[in-house]
Parts: sequence; C-alpha cells; structure tokens
Amino acid sequence: MIVLGIESSCDECAVALLAGDEVVHQVIASQIEAHQCYGGVAPEVASRLHIEQISTVVDQLFTQSPYHPEDIDLVAYTNRPGLMGSLLVGATFAKHFAWALGKPFIAVNHLLAHLFVAKQEHPTLTFPFLGVIASGGHTVIAVVEGYQEDQVKVLGTTLDDAIGECFDKVGKAYGLPYPAGVHVDKLAQTGDAQAYAFPYPKLNPRYAGAYDCSYSGLKNAVINQKEQFLRADAEDSLENIMASFQYVAVRQLVKIILKASNDFSLHQVVIGGGVAANSALRAMIQSYTHLKFFSLPSKLCGDNGQMIAYYGKELFLERGKTSDALDTGVIPRVDLFKYQRPIPS
Ligand code: ATP
Ligand code: MG
Ligand code: FE
Repeated sequence: MIVLGIESSCDECAVALLAGDEVVHQVIASQIEAHQCYGGVAPEVASRLHIEQISTVVDQLFTQSPYHPEDIDLVAYTNRPGLMGSLLVGATFAKHFAWALGKPFIAVNHLLAHLFVAKQEHPTLTFPFLGVIASGGHTVIAVVEGYQEDQVKVLGTTLDDAIGECFDKVGKAYGLPYPAGVHVDKLAQTGDAQAYAFPYPKLNPRYAGAYDCSYSGLKNAVINQKEQFLRADAEDSLENIMASFQYVAVRQLVKIILKASNDFSLHQVVIGGGVAANSALRAMIQSYTHLKFFSLPSKLCGDNGQMIAYYGKELFLERGKTSDALDTGVIPRVDLFKYQRPIPS
C-alpha cells in the first residue's frame, strides 16, 4: 500500500511517501527562519508560507522518488489540532489532490501521530503502552490501548504551559534563537545541573490530578534569574542555568512517567513530540532499567510527514474504510480529556 502523508499543522510543511511500512522519501520545508524575527510562530505568516510550499514539496516528493501520484492508494493528512490557517492549507490540498486522483483520504490527529510513529520504528512495541506527548503545544501522559482515539486514555496534562513552550520561552528570555529547545539542550550539556535549585511545582491536589504537571512557575523562576545573570559582577554561567532548568523540567515529567508505570503496571514507554529529542530526558528515562523505552530518532520527534502517513495507513487498515468527505473540517483544539482513564484508588 502506497500512502502519501501531509503535515501542515504548525510551521513545518512536511510530506512523506510510504510503501508498506517503508519510507520511500520525505520532504520537509521548515519555516523556522521566517518566524525567528517574531520569536515564535506567526500564524498568518505560517499559513501563507504553507500555501507557497505545499505544491513544491509534493512535486519534489514525486520527482525524487520512483512513484507517481497515480500510484498512491491513500492520502493521510493532519486535520487536528494546530493553527487554523495552517491546517486548512494542508487539509484542502490533501483532500483535493486525492479527489482529483480518485483516491481515498483520511484525517489524522497530529498528537497521536507523534506517538504512533514509534510502532513503525519498533515493531516489538505492543498495546497497551504509556504514551507521553512532549511537544511545543502539549504535555500529555496517557495509557495507549490502540490506534483509535477512544483507546487513548489520558491520565494527566500540564495545567499551564507545555514543556516545549517552557523551553522556548526560557531560551528566548536568554537570547537564544527560536525554537530554543535544542539550544537549551546543547548549552545544558556542558553545564552543572545542580548549580541552581529551581523550584519543583507544588500542585494543589484539589485542582490537580496525580499525573498532572505545571511549567509556568519554573519558567518564571528561570526568567527571573536573568537579572542576576546580567549583573556585571555576577558569576552565573548560562550553561549552568540551562542545565539546572532542564533538570527540573525533565525530572518533573519523568516522575509522572514512573508513577504511572507503577500504578498501571505498564513498562513500555513512548515519548513523542519535539521535546522527546532532549538528551537529558532520554538519558534519565534510560537510567530506569525496569522501563522499556522505545525511543525515536530526533528527526521523528519533531513534526514530519512520515508519522501522518503511518498513522493514517494503520487507521485505514483497521477501519477498512475512511469516512472522510470533502467537507470534513479542521479542528484547531482537541479535547484530550474526552477519554479519561479512571485513576487507581
Ligand atoms: P504540537 O505537536 O503540540 O502541536 P508542535 O508541533 O509545534 O506542537 P513539535 O514540533 O512536536 O511541536 O515540537 C517542537 C518543540 O520541541 C519546540 O518547543 C522545541 O523547542 C522543542 N524541542 C526540539 N528539540 C528539543 C530538545 N533537544 N530539547 C528540548 N526541546 C526541544
Ligand atoms: Mg514545529
Ligand atoms: Fe507536533
């Protein structure tokens, strides 16, 4: 089965071609440079760039691979969640490309695609597993029982900022380019993670669940350290600040993973989304040998077309059909807690 995957939910215009479970080719047009002057993604700029990029990347994909558009059996595309304008460009292109060729098309949840691409990377990964989405816009931990949305039982989430957003805002405050996560990671590698004792969030159990987390207090604490850092006589090192920040950020997530693994007796762990590429997060998870960590290569942690193609194909095969029509819409925000898992008492 040949599947074309199209991802346009944020600032990457990415397409991939799968033949069976093999990735034939992928093309990613990143918009990072265009957004850097804004210090974050400018939604209006993103959607206009997607309009400029989408036909070019699809053209490149077919020119650089042995397949032609007529060869594809399915078009999978992101229709949720993401920036409204960006989603609309990819979805409109995908549906009409498929329709013109007389091929079926299927809408895919971007967040779940971040997790399920691990099934393609690791055929030994079985349901159920603990799935963690650690991305620019989301921080979610769930028990993943299957490919269908109602089989992903959310345990907890961030009460405020997403973990990737926290990395980006901390980095931005210290003058690192957008997206700052990867730069924080690099600086932290030569820093002392114990140099600063940034606070762990204390969540009020009246409002927070056992697997929830919070990143805005940590973010503010690290940003407030900047005044001291900028003083001429200060001996602060940026490497130490970033290492100490990263340690608390990552530790908080790992603690929740350990608790959930214990409470639900699930030892297989998948982390998807851009922050899954973080070296400290990977190392900390790997240090717990009772966990079986199915890690993703960095290029599959961030947004890519492969994850959309793979997840779309699995959904299509499982359902045996697609209920998508040309008027299927895009959904900027998804209600992750629709299928909440009861917490063990
Ligand atoms: P979402 O998936 O929630 O819709 P998104 O698609 O924008 O959001 P991704 O592309 O999955 O998010 O991930 C991007 C995020 O990952 C950014 O916040 C970026 O800083 C962060 N990131 C990338 N590499 C690293 C790293 N090595 N360490 C920490 N954060 C990282
Ligand atoms: Mg992105
Ligand atoms: Fe993403």
